[in-house]
Amino acid sequence: MQYALLTKIGGELIEASRADYQDYYGFLKCPECNEPVFLRQGHLRQRKQIKASFVHHKAVPEISACELRIGKYSKEDIEAFASKAKKQRLQKLNISMWKYVKTNMAVNFKDYDKLKTQTKNVKSYQGLLVYADNCLTNNVEFIVDNLIPQIGKVINNKNAAVGEIMGLLDKFNSFVNDLKSDWLLHEKIAKEAAGLFLSPQMKEIRYRALVVLCYPKNMELLNRDLVELNMQSETWNKLFTNYITLQIALVFISINWIKLLP
Ligand SMILES: [Zn+2]
Repeated sequence: MQYALLTKIGGELIEASRADYQDYYGFLKCPECNEPVFLRQGHLRQRKQIKASFVHHKAVPEISACELRIGKYSKEDIEAFASKAKKQRLQKLNISMWKYVKTNMAVNFKDYDKLKTQTKNVKSYQGLLVYADNCLTNNVEFIVDNLIPQIGKVINNKNAAVGEIMGLLDKFNSFVNDLKSDWLLHEKIAKEAAGLFLSPQMKEIRYRALVVLCYPKNMELLNRDLVELNMQSETWNKLFTNYITLQIALVFISINWIKLLP
């Protein structure tokens, strides 16, 4: 049969032709009878190409009924599975967003507590954090619909033209290789999670990320102009918006959602 239900990441319907992925192993079940299934890779049989498919572990008579039903899934059926899975994921993310954000490969958030204590009474810094949060919440669409897919493309095409981003991505090459076979699903979840992170209810979590991202020593590492230019200037404003939006996109694209989300 063509589809199986992945029992993690909220229960996503997975297509057999796209399921060549080690993290799925042991997490696949039949969407009709809930019995475990396994992936039979595409192969040649008597010079004919046999498509990849999911097969029940148990040889029970009802199996053909499952396959018949799954074979008739309409576009709406498939969308219903997808929206249910998304809802489940967002519920989990709502409770533990920070836990997942901390696992990203682009920005190290381990100093958050220390930096928070250091900066909590610095008025100008608190002002910068408010400004940064506005930068993010005024650019939600840009981050979710443009930046994240753009970075996705860079990763997949190894586009030399965007060398600046590539430089940052070099350090999580193995992560990217792990995900190569299901980048689309990964990117979809990264976009959902970023959308939630940028919504009003996540203000406190954004504050944590911004305490670390806006810390002068951290900004300096990526671009000295961020701490040297006049903060009232148009140039700084542009540079800062680019910096903060790109960092957030990189954080969300570099969390291994498929592996980590239950
Ligand atoms: Zn079944």
